[in-house]
Amino acid sequence: MAQTLDIVTPNGHRYTQPTGLFINNEFVPATSGKTITSIDPATDKPIATVDAASADDVDRAVKAAKAALVHPSWKLLPATERGQLMARLADLMWENRELLASIDAWDNGKPYHVALDEDLVEATTTIRYYSGWADKTFGQTISTTPQKFAYTLRQPIGVVGQIIPWNYPLAMAAWKLGPALACGNTVVLKAAEQTPLSILVLATLVAKAGFPPGVINIVNGYGREAGAALTSHPLVDKVAFTGSTATGREIMKMAAGSLKNITLETGGKSPLLVFPDADMDQAVKWSHFGIMSNQGQICTATSRIFVHREILPTFLAEFKKAVEGVSIGDQWDANTFQGPQVTRAQYERILSYFEIAKNEGATLVTGGAAHVPSKEENKNGYFVQPTVYTDVTDSMRIVREEVFGPVVVILPFDTEEEAIERANNTSYGLGAAVFTTDLERAHRVAAEIETGMVWINSSQDCDPRIPFGGVKQSGIGRELGEAGLEAYSQVKAIHVNMGNKL
Ligand code: NAD
Repeated sequence: MAQTLDIVTPNGHRYTQPTGLFINNEFVPATSGKTITSIDPATDKPIATVDAASADDVDRAVKAAKAALVHPSWKLLPATERGQLMARLADLMWENRELLASIDAWDNGKPYHVALDEDLVEATTTIRYYSGWADKTFGQTISTTPQKFAYTLRQPIGVVGQIIPWNYPLAMAAWKLGPALACGNTVVLKAAEQTPLSILVLATLVAKAGFPPGVINIVNGYGREAGAALTSHPLVDKVAFTGSTATGREIMKMAAGSLKNITLETGGKSPLLVFPDADMDQAVKWSHFGIMSNQGQICTATSRIFVHREILPTFLAEFKKAVEGVSIGDQWDANTFQGPQVTRAQYERILSYFEIAKNEGATLVTGGAAHVPSKEENKNGYFVQPTVYTDVTDSMRIVREEVFGPVVVILPFDTEEEAIERANNTSYGLGAAVFTTDLERAHRVAAEIETGMVWINSSQDCDPRIPFGGVKQSGIGRELGEAGLEAYSQVKAIHVNMGNKL
C-alpha cells in the first residue's frame, strides 16, 4: 500500500492523498524508495513528499499500459463510450477545480486566481474537447478499379509515454492525455519533479471516472531516471514531450533506439513586432502579457520585442509603466500578477542572466535584481523583478537564449524586411506576434515569420481547437485541434479485391 498524506492547502482545502505511483488504477509504492519533496516557491518550505519512480517502476507502468491496450475492456470499448469516460473525467476535474488550482498555485507559485480562471479552464476544456473527437475520427474509402478498392483505418499508435513540464502542470497533462485517449491509446504519463502534486489528484479522478485499469498510468519521477526509462522502453510506441530543447534532443536520441514516433514541444525566443501604425495601447497591453504572465515561464513567451524606431520612445515609456505597475506577491493574494519563480534553480538562472546582460553591456530599463517581498513569510521566496533591456545587439546571449522568466529585450527596427529577417534570426520557431492596423501587412508578415504560430494584434492566445507547436528547434509535430489527433493515430490501408478472376 502506498502511503497517504492529509494535506491542507494555505487557502483551506483539506484532502487526503496517496503519494505512490498510479498504476492499474491503484496507488502503489515506488520500489526504489526514492522520493520527491515539493517546495512552496513563495516560502521555500516543503509541502509534501511523494514517491519517485525508478526504471523498474516505469517498467511496471508500461507493462500495465501494454496489457490494457489489448484488453477487451479498452480495445473493444465503443468510441462513443470512450468519449463519455473522458467527458466524465472533465466533469470531475471541473467539480474539483478549486482544489486542483490551489495545489498547482502552491506547488508552482502561480497566483491562485490564474490557476483557477486560466489553467483549470484550459485543462478541463481540453479533455472535454477531445472527448468529442473520440467517435469522430474515421478512415477513408478510396476507389481504384471496378474490381478493387481500398479503405483506411485510423488506429491508435499503442502505448504512449508522455513527459510534461512544470509551468502549466494540469493543462500540459490535459494536452497530452486528451488526444491520446480520444484515439484509443494507453498512456504512462510522467509529471515534472518540480510540480508532482496535482497530478496525483488527477489520478484519483481517473479511477473515479471509471477508466479501465492500466489505460492511464501516472508516475512522478526524475527526468534522468524515470523520464529516460520511459523514453527508451521497448514497449513504448510513442513519446510526447514538452520541456527544454536540450532535453528534447536527448529524448530524440533515446527514442531512436526503437525508432519511436515522437512529438516534441520545446523552447522558444518568440519575437513580437510593433509597426508604426499599431494601436499603441493594444501593443503595450499584449506585449506586457506576452512576456510577463505566468512569471515569464511560457515556452511561447514573446521575449524579443522589435519596435519601429519612430514609435520606440513612446512604446518604451508606456511599456515601462505597465511593467512597474504590477503587483508581485504570493499565490494567495488576489492582487498578485507575478508570483515566485517555480524553483530556486530557475530563480538563480534568471539572476545569472541579469549578470550576463550587464556584462554584455545591455541598458537596464527596469528590474534586473531579486525582488524583496513585503511579507515576512515570503522573504526566502524565489521572487525576481520583471526586467526590461534595451541597447542590445542581435548576437547577445540575452537576445538569443531562452531565459524562461519575466525578462524581455526591446530592439528598434527601420523596415518591414529588416524586422522579419531579424525576427527569424534564431534557432527557435515557436510563436510570434505582429502589431499593425494594416491588414495586408499583418497577413504578409504572418506568412513570412518562421514559427508554428503567429498572433495578429495579440499574444499567447491558445485554444484546444487550434493547433499548437513549433518549427526549427522549437519542436516536431502539433498538439491540440484536429492536428493533435494526427500525433496519436496511424493510418492502415486495407486493399480489397472483389473480382474473382483478377
Ligand atoms: P526539462 O526539459 O529538463 O524537463 C521537462 C520534463 O522532462 C520533466 O518532466 C523532466 O523530468 C523531464 N526530463 C528531464 N530530463 C530528461 C531525460 N533525460 N529524459 C527524459 N525526460 C527528462 O526542463 P527543466 O529542467 O524543468 O527546465 C529547464 C529549461 O527548460 C527552462 O529554463 C526552460 O528554458 C525550458 N522549459 C521549457 C518548457 C516549455 O514549455 N517549452 C517548459 C519547462 C521548461
